Amino acid sequence: MEDNCLFCKIVAGEVPATVVHEDALAVAFEDVNPQAPQHVLIIPREHMDSLNDVSKGDEALIGHLFRIAAQIADQRGIGESGFRAVVNTGPDAGQSVQHVHVHLLGGRSMAWPPG
Ligand code: 5GP
Ligand code: ZN
Repeated sequence: MEDNCLFCKIVAGEVPATVVHEDALAVAFEDVNPQAPQHVLIIPREHMDSLNDVSKGDEALIGHLFRIAAQIADQRGIGESGFRAVVNTGPDAGQSVQHVHVHLLGGRSMAWPPG
């Protein structure tokens, strides 16, 4: 657990969140400021600042986050209509919380390229 990390506090139950999935490696919860009808964040329990921190030993963990995203999309009936799973990394991408998270967005059609 990293000091003063909001998402580590959510993992520890110190900050409340609407948790929709939990397992040994990951926690998923509703985004507090949803940008689509479905907007869930999937995070590793273990702290890592961003994708820039991911090492070879973390490859399975990062894959797991995306599999959970697809599973939640399927549970919510947007697996076939489609969804977006994105990881904002660094200032240009607008990363605002420095604990790796996959955004699962869906339930509406989305533009490409993103802004
Ligand atoms: P980023 O901008 O780093 O890619 O995404 C951070 C996300 O975390 C944003 O979509 C933001 O709405 C969400 N977020 C920030 N603070 C909280 C919080 O306290 N609880 C929850 N559930 N989501 C949060
Ligand atoms: Zn953290």
